[in-house]
Amino acid sequence: MKIAIVGSGMIGLCSAYYLNKRGFEVTILDEGDGSDNCSYGNAGYFSPSHLVPLASPGIISQGLKWMTNPESPFYIKPSLNRDLARWGWQFYRASTKSRVKRAVPVLSQMLTESRTLIEEILADTKIKAGFDNKGLLMYCKSQNVLDEEAELANLAKKYGQEVDVLSSAEAEKLNPGFEINTVGAVHFKDDAWFTPHLFMEELKKYLSKQGVTFSYHTRVTNMESGEGHVKALVTDKGKVEADQFIIAAGSWTAKFLNQQGIKILLQGGKGYSFVVADPPVMPKTASILTEARVAVTPMQHGLRFAGTMEINRLDLSINPRRVKGIQNSIPDYFPQFSEKSFVGLKPWAGLRPCTPDGLPYIGKTRKFDNLIVATGHAMLGISLGPVTGLMVNDLAQENTPHIDDTLLQVERYS
Ligand SMILES: Cc1cc2nc3c(=O)[nH]c(=O)nc-3n(C[C@H](O)[C@H](O)[C@H](O)COP(=O)(O)OP(=O)(O)OC[C@H]3O[C@@H](n4cnc5c(N)ncnc54)[C@H](O)[C@@H]3O)c2cc1C
Repeated sequence: MKIAIVGSGMIGLCSAYYLNKRGFEVTILDEGDGSDNCSYGNAGYFSPSHLVPLASPGIISQGLKWMTNPESPFYIKPSLNRDLARWGWQFYRASTKSRVKRAVPVLSQMLTESRTLIEEILADTKIKAGFDNKGLLMYCKSQNVLDEEAELANLAKKYGQEVDVLSSAEAEKLNPGFEINTVGAVHFKDDAWFTPHLFMEELKKYLSKQGVTFSYHTRVTNMESGEGHVKALVTDKGKVEADQFIIAAGSWTAKFLNQQGIKILLQGGKGYSFVVADPPVMPKTASILTEARVAVTPMQHGLRFAGTMEINRLDLSINPRRVKGIQNSIPDYFPQFSEKSFVGLKPWAGLRPCTPDGLPYIGKTRKFDNLIVATGHAMLGISLGPVTGLMVNDLAQENTPHIDDTLLQVERYS
């Protein structure tokens, strides 16, 4: 049976991995060269700790404060666009205690399973990609924020995670020689990380060897269909026929589906990263500067800093003020770093595919019986890649997904 996947990001590749294993004949189409997507320059975390979605109580009031600061980590670009307005309204509606209470068990189950699956994939493919399972430290500068993180730690423990709340001195012991200026940290010990671009490159090589076909610089522009069935994808290089079609086109998925009469709400959430190749000191553990919302990941080629969430549709331009905002926050937490540590660095930007409620869209559409959508993973597309791939594989085999997908329905906002 033939499967065509649109998108060679983490979601497309993980789907291809499982589909290929089950004997499907897989072709992946991408309009780029497969290395210019969001799955390359991100922070590389596998984070069961992130079991609370972005849309949660407190985000609206905090977000409104951030809106006026050009260096803040969160921003929604004001616009008269109707889709953005609908997205914003649904984001607001999803930011309640009761909605979060429904989302947490699903997200937690998916994150935990995916965390196990990534180790299985790495063992099977023999890819290393700098994978490290020393956990994630949430560094806090204020006692209030440390207390909030400790509450999150209690929630994570209820879901079986191992978490320690540490004083600053205890946190420092985990990274001897790496100075921190904080009141303490929470150590989510089940989290892990890798160097994402290495993983992506290695997985593509592995999949090619297993017989997956990659068709780069191929833009999918339309579909041919009839009687509720997709017959072919129309691309700028001709038609691609298959039995089943997977749309894993990241932040661009809504644009494509909307053209096909399938309405989903999805916005690009722009984030930046940069790598300090030769940092003053290299920490051994990945961390997040909690108040500043900056991720810090020791990678194979240096120390990567990543941050900001600018909801602004499909704009990938770099705003130097926000990059500066990330850089300015670092010496506050890590006194061995200064402005000089970041001179001449080239920032990268990526678009996180964001749904209003922070849960991905995974499933079939009402209109077509052989069209599967897998996107909307926002800040968790790396963490959730493996489990999403497995769910796509369930759907392609006409099975009910092994994870309850009630909250993940593709057309839940139409
Ligand atoms: C700064 C930053 C840090 C992050 N850190 C983490 C992290 O630590 N952990 C984590 O889990 N997640 C993280 N994320 C989120 C994660 O990177 C994304 O959720 C994930 O990469 C999305 O993968 P994807 O496959 O859905 O989309 P993408 O990687 O964007 O891939 C989509 C692909 O579809 C192709 N495409 C689109 N339209 C078409 C078309 N019409 N025809 C053909 N091809 C098309 C594109 O060219 C692209 O290659 C981070 C994101 C950012 C920006």
